[in-house]
Amino acid sequence: MKQKALLYKGKAKSVFRTDVKGQFIVEFRDDITAFDGGKKDVLKNKGSYNAGVSAFLFEYLEKNGVPTHFVKMLDPRRMVVRELAMIPLEVIVRNVAAGSIVRNYPFKEGTKLSPPIIVIDYKDDARHDPMLNDELIVALKLATAKELAEIKTIALKINALLVKLMAAQGITLVDFKIEFGRSGKTICLGDEISMDSMRLWDKKTNESLDKDVYRFEKGDVMATYNRVAKRITTKAAAAPAKKTAAKVPARKPVKVPAKKPATTKTAAKKAPVKASVPAKKPVKKPVAAKAAAKRAPVKIVAKKAVKKPAGKTPAKTR
Ligand code: 5GP
Repeated sequence: MKQKALLYKGKAKSVFRTDVKGQFIVEFRDDITAFDGGKKDVLKNKGSYNAGVSAFLFEYLEKNGVPTHFVKMLDPRRMVVRELAMIPLEVIVRNVAAGSIVRNYPFKEGTKLSPPIIVIDYKDDARHDPMLNDELIVALKLATAKELAEIKTIALKINALLVKLMAAQGITLVDFKIEFGRSGKTICLGDEISMDSMRLWDKKTNESLDKDVYRFEKGDVMATYNRVAKRITTKAAAAPAKKTAAKVPARKPVKVPAKKPATTKTAAKKAPVKASVPAKKPVKKPVAAKAAAKRAPVKIVAKKAVKKPAGKTPAKTR
């Protein structure tokens, strides 16, 4: 297979045309970003860890009846995929309250969400991926009501399969984001499922094993990705788990500071939260007050949590 012209370059992956009709190559780069692209780095081998985990999980899901775009790996960071007409939705499934659901709603971090909660965002960086509801999705013609029902059914099936697989490795699947596309009339799982798109906690210690390590400078990101990639991709992980229920040990509570006087009309409507982005690398791009109020990260009680630079609040932590 020959790699041809670049079709699309995202924040961490590039998609290329190939000489095979209906097949693309996805290259997982070593770029890592967070806070709406406000924090960026290049971390050696990150692309291959994410590609390896994605390939393993796509194969596991395919074996269990979930159609995916995965064809094969060309090398540790390049994946051959089937061409899909991507649907611009970010489908997020949550088993445990963490991240934006804790910032935006009165959930306590670590609370088990049973049944799992599905949240669907509009994939649109310029609009900071606003949350949608079923009516908006249909009105915007992003998917039909029938497709949407199918997407939710598949998302819950993927969740059940991944919860089981992660549990076998002592990992709690807190939440994850997936994207779908159409291959003819079939809805297929596309994009990736990796440490960048899942929130994973060690069942015993509650240690973060995902991009939160990078977002909040909780430790050595690549050592964590390397360890968790090995843990997830061991054959034993795909064996049936004895216990499938996601048991969530108590976590340190997320500290939400006392309310400050609101400075804008929008901010006045929402509870102000204190952000924790690394002091050394302030977020450069100021964002609109509305988006900031919606997505501002709370201060995470962690060893290396630091205060955000005054007046600069990232729109989101992704
Ligand atoms: P949250 O809404 O709490 O920021 O994210 C929920 C889950 O979806 C997390 O596991 C997060 O990593 C994933 N997620 C949300 N948005 C994105 C995105 O734009 N890109 C990626 N890779 N993952 C996302």
